[in-house]
Amino acid sequence: MRSVALKVSSVVKHYGAVKALDGVSFEVYEGEYFAIIGPSGSGKSTLLKCIAGLEKPDKGDIIIFGRRVNELPPERRGVGLIFQEIHLFPHMTVRGNVLYPAVVRGVERASEAVRDVLSSLSVELKARNFPRELSLGEQQKVALARTLASQSKLVLMDEPYGSMDPRTAELLRYEVRRLAKSLGLTVIHVTHNQEEAMAVADRIAVMRRGRIEQIGEPVDLYLRPRSLFVARFVGGENNFLEGRVAGSKAPFTAIDVGSCLLWGWGEVNDEKAVLAIRPEKLRFAADGLLEGIVEAREFLGKTYKYLVKLDDGRVLIVKTRDKVEVGSRVRLSFNLEDAVVLPYPREGLEEAIRYE
Ligand code: ADP
Ligand code: MG
Repeated sequence: MRSVALKVSSVVKHYGAVKALDGVSFEVYEGEYFAIIGPSGSGKSTLLKCIAGLEKPDKGDIIIFGRRVNELPPERRGVGLIFQEIHLFPHMTVRGNVLYPAVVRGVERASEAVRDVLSSLSVELKARNFPRELSLGEQQKVALARTLASQSKLVLMDEPYGSMDPRTAELLRYEVRRLAKSLGLTVIHVTHNQEEAMAVADRIAVMRRGRIEQIGEPVDLYLRPRSLFVARFVGGENNFLEGRVAGSKAPFTAIDVGSCLLWGWGEVNDEKAVLAIRPEKLRFAADGLLEGIVEAREFLGKTYKYLVKLDDGRVLIVKTRDKVEVGSRVRLSFNLEDAVVLPYPREGLEEAIRYE
């Protein structure tokens, strides 16, 4: 059994009439790198603040390493925090800033740990500088270094790369994951950038409107989304075809999309369903069941992106290495295990995949 570092149980949080968290429950294991993603306003920061003790939940429990911490102030929860707004001590050097919490906690060989972390994050040459002499990105690295070196066993990061250019952020995210793993830290990393989460997280929770829609490994969320929102939010573009349920053979379901019968993975106890198929899982094939005209082509480097207008007017995105001309008549095919069948949402398809 893996031990649980954090347990969040039925947490509800209002700001006046706004329900920022609407019953959130999940567990994070010790040593896990756990990401929380979701669109802006979905409650990610509020959730992190409740865990950190910067906000108080209206209901529910926060349990850190087996101890209920609802009543404890932030500094007694033993968590390290990194927010997008950087909070360094302006009168201390970089080294002083990084060393400070480690020394306060009496981390053994603090000085050595600090040197390692600074060098891994490539800020060792700035160790004698003051925060104001650093770029925002460098300051953020120092804040990361400070938290990692403090050896708080649970580290909470809210959009930690928000003030960096994308290239720096991309390099840094792998380094931070590597450091966290080698130090045995449990990390909860909040980001609106699903690609960032997919790249570094062991598991990801997808939030929407104050609730968790799904928790899973990156590949699960990508291949086996349990809601249309997750299918849309995770992994970039997706195609959705609605139709009537026309047959089933567990774990597959066939749906009648009008022009043909399409099979996909998933079981649905309803009349209507939606088939989600990724652009890169569609291919041109003479025996494909879907038929249409190529409306547009875009060169993406390795592949082409096509817009194919089906005969019934629906437009699908296709990404493939195959080159066909705009205006060609094509047929599209896919493997049934690459398509996901989900119940047709009561609120309608557009609403179900809306981001905000
Ligand atoms: P996210 O981090 O996912 O963007 P937040 O947790 O910041 O989302 O916000 C969730 C909801 O709570 C939003 O509707 C936001 O406007 C609201 N909210 C967040 N903080 C406050 C606050 N201090 N006062 C009032 N409303 C807030
Ligand atoms: Mg936020």
